Amino acid sequence: MQNTDPQELLKFETLASRWWDPKSEFAPLHAINPLRVGYIEERVSLDGARTLDVGCGGGILSESLAAKGAQVVGIDAGLAPINVARLHALSSGMSIDYRHTTVESLVDECEEGFDLICCLEMLEHVPDPGTTVAACAKLLRPGGSIFFSTINRNFKSFLFAIVGAEYVLSLLPRGTHDYKKFIRPAELDSWARRASLAISGITGMHYNPLSRRYTLGDGVAVNYISHYLKGPVS
Ligand code: SAH
Repeated sequence: MQNTDPQELLKFETLASRWWDPKSEFAPLHAINPLRVGYIEERVSLDGARTLDVGCGGGILSESLAAKGAQVVGIDAGLAPINVARLHALSSGMSIDYRHTTVESLVDECEEGFDLICCLEMLEHVPDPGTTVAACAKLLRPGGSIFFSTINRNFKSFLFAIVGAEYVLSLLPRGTHDYKKFIRPAELDSWARRASLAISGITGMHYNPLSRRYTLGDGVAVNYISHYLKGPVS
């Protein structure tokens, strides 16, 4: 059984042609990208790192990681986003292995041994995020690093990520996010621990509507990024 939600995929398929327009519905992804790349770079060496970008969409993160020396495989369950990613990489002259598939299928194909896996802004769009976390963990080499980013589930995140971002500020199209699918850091941590991943760091990602800028910092009540390590096999 595929761990995909056709309605969620359709949202991204429909918008995919505008993925690289920094003024489009994808503006927030463009705005947060340098911050998340900075966080990853501070914690792992990208040079030559065999990297998997899970739910890569049009490739905003994949291209940044590849530009910093990572050897990137980007996967997405949506065909239109993957096609946009392929075309954009061609026009940027970047060599990235984009595949229209899921992380669960990569496990079935016995692909493994990634040094780094990034699964950003994606877990809140899948039916069973715990299964995605487990599949990612299987593909990681012992000692490898994995980054997950998503949105916490509480009253503040409802106000900021749905009411504020979708209805008041129109940063994202209405219906982009479903409150019920938001994920508490402790829930992510329990799925990760079950998959033999140990937390190495967590940071919040904050939006200031006055300056219209995003920053990383303490406080994980709304958006957050977590860094996990896979211990050596005992
Ligand atoms: N990670 C990218 C894009 C986030 S948008 C970034 O942060 O820049 C979420 C993406 O996840 C979409 O492209 C969507 O098609 C993809 N997606 C949703 N469910 C998926 C699944 N089960 N497997 C793989 N990709 C999925």
